[in-house]
Amino acid sequence: MVARYEPVESPDETTIFPYHDLTPPTTADVFRARSVVAAHLPRTPLVRCEWLSAELDADVYLKREDTLPTGAFKVRGGITLVATLDDEFRDRGLVAASTGNHGQSIAYAGREFDVPAAICVPEDANPGKVRAMERLGARVVHHGSDFDEARERAEELAAEEGYRYVHSANEPALVAGVATAGLEVVEDLPDVDVVFAPVGGGSGASGYCLTAGELADADVIGVQSAAAPAMHRAWSEGTLAAHDRMETLAEGLATRVPFALTAELLGEKLDDFVLVEDDALRDGVRRTLAEAHVLVEGAAASGVAAALERGDELAGKSVVISVTGRNLGMAKLRSILGEGRG
Ligand SMILES: *Cc1c(COP(=O)(O)O)cnc(C)c1O
Repeated sequence: MVARYEPVESPDETTIFPYHDLTPPTTADVFRARSVVAAHLPRTPLVRCEWLSAELDADVYLKREDTLPTGAFKVRGGITLVATLDDEFRDRGLVAASTGNHGQSIAYAGREFDVPAAICVPEDANPGKVRAMERLGARVVHHGSDFDEARERAEELAAEEGYRYVHSANEPALVAGVATAGLEVVEDLPDVDVVFAPVGGGSGASGYCLTAGELADADVIGVQSAAAPAMHRAWSEGTLAAHDRMETLAEGLATRVPFALTAELLGEKLDDFVLVEDDALRDGVRRTLAEAHVLVEGAAASGVAAALERGDELAGKSVVISVTGRNLGMAKLRSILGEGRG
């Protein structure tokens, strides 16, 4: 018989279970995650970008997380979490709610370690993303009309079936895992001055704070869409209140509720936090494709957009932009390219 898990009280408005430890990871935890990630994933290149270097009169490098097998940085966290999973969950399996890269990360890690994974998505989820998760061997559970309803189904499955509910941010192992990207940056570019890190739930930016921030004393600048500013608000106003707006085209940045663990880390360590308009994200996608010949999704274009907006402060500096993912749907790509004509 499977033990029933009941959710416990969370400092934010999301559901957590008794196994969710909200103690933020440390830089030492990132070094521990490093060997696991290195055994399962390729190191990603840090590539100088001549276009942005000329545009900003700086040395600008792209951290090409889009080259990971799932096309996004989150898989570093999935691998780290599943590698250290308690035995009781290895047979029962994992459950997550995601319309995008978190789901692919957990599906990939489940396949890698032979742990079953169920991913809950809304009924009208993007078929391309669903196919990607199914190809990785996950069971995709369609439920409800939006992300929140799909998430509720994931929480029920976790309670009823005893699956390990993998939260998208309140997971120290995910944060430590994604932070390994920052260790690679520090090794490749020890004198990095500034890192631009897109923020949705805040795990990626937290990771750069624990690495480039702590080890190289770089300024880590978070970037979120002005159309979905929940984490920005948590950082600037110190509140974990849910936000009413979440309309960004960049699903990687779309969070309504700020998350306790990453809000604590960012509150303590993030140097600056900027908001960019969705028009700037579209422009960032278009120009990164046209000038650097790299296809990025809207979330990943936020770092490029912020660097272009902050241009005058960057002259002469070593700047790294985290290119977090490449999973842009064809319809969005067409619409973004269409706007650029004429
Ligand atoms: C999830 C995601 C982000 C945001 O990362 P968080 O760790 O949730 O802040 C940015 N870009 C892409 C492509 C993503 O998938």
